[in-house]
Amino acid sequence: MSLEQSRQKGFFHDLETMSRNQRDEYLWNRMSDLLGFAYDNSKAFKKRMNDAGLTPADIRSPADWALIPALPKKDLVHVQLSEPDLGGLLTCKPGDLRHIYMSPGPIVDPEARQQDYWGFAEAFYAAGFRKSDIVQMTFSYHFTPAGLMMEEPLHEIGCSVFPAGPGNTDGQIEVMTRLGVTGFVGMASFLKIIADKAESKGLNLKNDFRLKVAFVAAERLAESLRSELEERFGMRIRQGYGTADLGCIAYECPEKNGMHLSSRCYVEICDPESKKPLPFGETGEVVVTPFNKAYPLIRLATGDLSAMQEQNCPCGRTAPGLKGILGRVDDTVKVKGQFIYPSQVGEALKNFSGISSWKLVAANPDGRDRISLYLFCSRDTDVVTVSKAFQDKIKLRAEIIISQDEKDFLETDPKIEDRRTWDK
Ligand SMILES: [Zn+2]
Repeated sequence: MSLEQSRQKGFFHDLETMSRNQRDEYLWNRMSDLLGFAYDNSKAFKKRMNDAGLTPADIRSPADWALIPALPKKDLVHVQLSEPDLGGLLTCKPGDLRHIYMSPGPIVDPEARQQDYWGFAEAFYAAGFRKSDIVQMTFSYHFTPAGLMMEEPLHEIGCSVFPAGPGNTDGQIEVMTRLGVTGFVGMASFLKIIADKAESKGLNLKNDFRLKVAFVAAERLAESLRSELEERFGMRIRQGYGTADLGCIAYECPEKNGMHLSSRCYVEICDPESKKPLPFGETGEVVVTPFNKAYPLIRLATGDLSAMQEQNCPCGRTAPGLKGILGRVDDTVKVKGQFIYPSQVGEALKNFSGISSWKLVAANPDGRDRISLYLFCSRDTDVVTVSKAFQDKIKLRAEIIISQDEKDFLETDPKIEDRRTWDK
């Protein structure tokens, strides 16, 4: 088998191909072990449990897991500042950690001395990185964990790493071409900047570069951009999903059909308000428990929206999948007991080529919830058909407002705005 064929095959470890029963048993063993340890060693977690009237004895099966109150990511900074040792979240002394980072928030991100702490090795292997690849790491190496977090899995696999960090496009191009770099890690948008700059200097992306594989993250990856870059360099590009506090959560395999859940954490999709799990397949907030004892972030509510899907994947990995990141909880609105997500609205409008941008506004001028869908669109857009498509998808009626002079307003985030006010 050639190296290029081998990039599409195989697994980093056998946790990826467990049967459903094995997987359930494996996860529950890790969860219950972590639960007991965190309760005994993390003051913050013990307090969270006790405040809810719980002890580990109350959590007897995975079905009980959601009894544990979730920790919203936006509360993390306050917990960390409330007491020493990151608010009692740490179960070791800060000086026993391998690295300590700070990511925006500002949130402190500890990294303990354990192999593949952030759990990205299986993700990089699935993406196609192999022993003896020379990899250019373009995530930042200071303050944020990104650079070192993404470098560690490459050493696990046996790659050599050039720690480039971000920026300095000319320098990046020189390194890639002189060293014969075969792997890229960073943002896809930066790889495009590198490609455009290299071509403007008269370089040929297939002959002067040897890039074969890339792992991209930290931004929404447009399929058009992926295909363009894969074609121009003659390489494969796969993406992963993780956060600076949690590490790897899910990742793409060669099949590129959603992201398999990582074996190093327990993932729930929950109602953004109650933080209770939703039926399989529904859209909700990603709530994650990584199996890290030094910093047990049990049920961290990420604020990201996604949905689970059965993978039945030809790659052989058996973990269920995430449909990618479908938005942020902060960009949703709850109307008549129902959440509306930007991705749902986009889905409802996707067949109307005349609509170039939109924004959904919830308001309650007379104390009653009303939703308005502002559209910037061509004159032949049929408002009645749009209204029906919206109602079919969202199950709520929206007032459609054609806006010809507010394109700027429509293109600013968030796509969904809540302007309702509630008087006491
Ligand atoms: Zn797969």
